[in-house]
Amino acid sequence: MPFAHDTGQGLAAAVALVNTAGRNGEQLPDRAALDEFARAWQWTGERTHDDAELQAVRDLRPRLRQLWEADVEQAVGIVNGLLRDANALPQLVRHGTWGYHLHATPPGAPLATRMAVEAAMAVMDLIRAGELSRLRICAYPGCGNVLADLSKNKSKRYCDAGCGNRAAVDAYRARLRSAPTLSRY
Ligand SMILES: [Zn+2]
Ligand SMILES: [Zn+2]
Repeated sequence: MPFAHDTGQGLAAAVALVNTAGRNGEQLPDRAALDEFARAWQWTGERTHDDAELQAVRDLRPRLRQLWEADVEQAVGIVNGLLRDANALPQLVRHGTWGYHLHATPPGAPLATRMAVEAAMAVMDLIRAGELSRLRICAYPGCGNVLADLSKNKSKRYCDAGCGNRAAVDAYRARLRSAPTLSRY
């Protein structure tokens, strides 16, 4: 993979966050859901566990989603805006089993701010590499979920909410319809 590990992790976390307002409806309905999401995506650091925190995270989703609908110039503006609003200050840090990587917010920054900056830093990497096109909307009709394709051959077309399977089943059924007599022989 041509991208740093934290780029992949940052994009995956951003995809998951944006898709909590995706095809399956509201996945962050309350604070408990946000706690579960934060656990699943290993968001450590300070938390307030209040409604304001939940609302700030929810409000971040449409802003991040714009990155999937933007051309490069627009994406640059969004990334710079996210970093500026957070007063992001990139620092090389090392902790746990991780080697040196970038943190651009202090651990005491609000959760939504840390989420915004991590997403912005990851998308920044894509833009610098000329690879913004790896941010895609799921190809399954009517889905609308987002995905980040970091595969070598850039072949990922469907989101992780089961659309790959749905598409395979659709294709199978279409084959059956177009060859109705095959089973007789
Ligand atoms: Zn870290
Ligand atoms: Zn999908």
